[in-house]
Amino acid sequence: MESSDSIKNVVLLGSTGSIGTSTIKVVEDLPQHLRLIGLAAGRRLGDLITQAKQFKPQLISISDESLKDQLRSEAPAGVRASCGDEGLIELATLPDADIVLIAIVGTAGLAPALAAIRAGKDIAVASKEILVMAGEIVMREAKTHGVRVLAVDSEHSAIFQCLDDKPATSVRNLWLTASGGPFRQTPKEDFSTIGLEQALKHPSWEMGQKITIDSATLFNKGLEMIEARWLFDIEMPRVKVIVHPQSVIHSMVEFVDGSIISQLSTPDMCLPIQYALTYPERVASERVQTDFAKIATLTFEEPDTEKFPSLNLARKAGIIGGTLPAVLNAANEVAVAAFCERKLSFLGITETVSQTMESHQTKTDPTLEEILEADQWARADATRRIAH
Ligand code: NAD
Ligand code: MG
Repeated sequence: MESSDSIKNVVLLGSTGSIGTSTIKVVEDLPQHLRLIGLAAGRRLGDLITQAKQFKPQLISISDESLKDQLRSEAPAGVRASCGDEGLIELATLPDADIVLIAIVGTAGLAPALAAIRAGKDIAVASKEILVMAGEIVMREAKTHGVRVLAVDSEHSAIFQCLDDKPATSVRNLWLTASGGPFRQTPKEDFSTIGLEQALKHPSWEMGQKITIDSATLFNKGLEMIEARWLFDIEMPRVKVIVHPQSVIHSMVEFVDGSIISQLSTPDMCLPIQYALTYPERVASERVQTDFAKIATLTFEEPDTEKFPSLNLARKAGIIGGTLPAVLNAANEVAVAAFCERKLSFLGITETVSQTMESHQTKTDPTLEEILEADQWARADATRRIAH
């Protein structure tokens, strides 16, 4: 649904993070097309206030409830302030909002995503975790309410652009490209010594901490496989992964006649963010420029599933379905947090996820409550394993 004028009213959840600040750049680039009317952040109150002064949104919210009073007193005149889960829901359902971009790390974006859909808003999803956890429910609800679920993840934006509304029956395979992360060329024997600093150095993208670690274990690609499965309604065996270290081809669609269409550009998240926010238009912007002579070579290699068992774990979770993807996702979140606190080794991340998945009794066709229960169960199970 769009407002009567041609400007889209955008709500941005996770405005101070990596995707959030790239979204701010896109809105600055396109003032005739996009207007920010709501912003939510986790704890960075100062940054949120600066954004509120610049854009004068209707409503801002901070997840940390202890910062609520400070937010109220520092918010510019005419900008309402809220907090916590309630604030996120209020933002996601703002009557004037046309589209809600969800860029909160992890699964906290699920409830606001569903609230936005039920309020008739299109959603743009960066938070892949919510599609991994409850993709079937999110897509079903979107269909029921006649709203769009637009991908912000660069691979899924690429596939969406390449598909160009062709039905799933015209697709032979979806090809997700992967940079391979910082340990693509590291021998398996050296994996036991990988530390936090090394894992935080991503070769092609500057991102938040959680997704950067996910890119090092390749769980990011695993999560993206499941995300693609739901976004495009393609069963898991037809979702393939190919390592492409230059990150110029963002992903590809192989059609049933053998033709392959890909989407390319120098890596910059502003591009998929802009496409999701301005869809179905293509709006002019000078921000992203691609110089093929400079890039010179594009290379491809098979992913090494011995070094990165995360890919097989994700494939298994995607094939079995039910509550298992939520368990994979939750165990991974707990394990990544423990790794970042230096309480778990790099190899321990994948081991923890694998063991938690092994001990889960998967429920098929789960309700949202059952998914949330599985999520909680997996968090507790993974936490216990890490503590031992
Ligand atoms: P980030 O850590 O840089 O930012 C997260 C943002 O969410 C911050 O603004 C933080 O304040 C906010 N936040 C956290 N908890 C919140 C809560 N409960 N309520 C409100 N706000 C909260 O993370 P990021 O790299 O921007 O990633 C965000 C999401 O986008 C992740 O799901 C990630 O997988 C996905 N994604 C990111 C990239 C990228 O290039 N960074 C690419 C594709 C997908
Ligand atoms: Mg991606």
